Amino acid sequence: MRIPIIAGNWKMNTNVDEAIRLVESMLDGLEAVPGVERVLCPPFVSLTYVSDLLVETSIRLGAQNMYPADKGAYTGEISPGMLKGLCQYVILGHSERRQYFGETDEFVNRKVHTALTHDLVPIICIGETLAENEAGQTAAVVTRQARGVLAGLNGDQVSRVVMAYEPIWAIGTGRPATGEGANQVIGLIREVAAGLAGPGPAQALRIQYGGSVTGDNAAEFMGQPEIDGALVGGASLKADQFVRIVQTTAQAKGV
Ligand code: PEP
Repeated sequence: MRIPIIAGNWKMNTNVDEAIRLVESMLDGLEAVPGVERVLCPPFVSLTYVSDLLVETSIRLGAQNMYPADKGAYTGEISPGMLKGLCQYVILGHSERRQYFGETDEFVNRKVHTALTHDLVPIICIGETLAENEAGQTAAVVTRQARGVLAGLNGDQVSRVVMAYEPIWAIGTGRPATGEGANQVIGLIREVAAGLAGPGPAQALRIQYGGSVTGDNAAEFMGQPEIDGALVGGASLKADQFVRIVQTTAQAKGV
């Protein structure tokens, strides 16, 4: 059985003090649900502080981005070696990075390989735009993206990464996909993974849904068989909402 995974992407929100207070306000609630893997992804500057708060807890830490080189003249960037030992996860290819910073599937794929080399588990984001969705291109776009970001990974690596299907039109809009629709696309992503790496790794691959998930709608997504968790943006900044999403996931998945 795939262990469900809920990750909170705080994006460019919270200073260090606010990050510490947010973690403190959700820690007990999250700790009470050990059957779900729980990951917090605060901004880079808060990672060490949050890491200290998570010592001796079962909650994992993730970064929101990473540059695919060990070190060098890349002003402002963060390497996997800097994250290793601090984080277990790193979000890669989020649509906001694709939209504002021009990241491509090929570049994200380089990041995925580099992260794995450093024992960081990538949470790899893919998803179609509203225009692509309305043009009936979702399957084609998601298939192309999944092939691109997973290119060159062996079966063991495919079974270790996490993917997040995040339709761009659902991110931060309060307009989520339907549970059934997301389940269908995630099933397709799993088929693509099976084509690349074989059925065993594809069955082990965990695939989240992301896009306006809240405590109120989480049950609709977590009740779906292909959906293994959620990547949560806005609601991960509200302790009660995020804890409710994790609790709902535990109930829906029976863990
Ligand atoms: C995200 O940032 O990955 C996300 C899904 O955001 P939101 O939950 O706010 O839609």
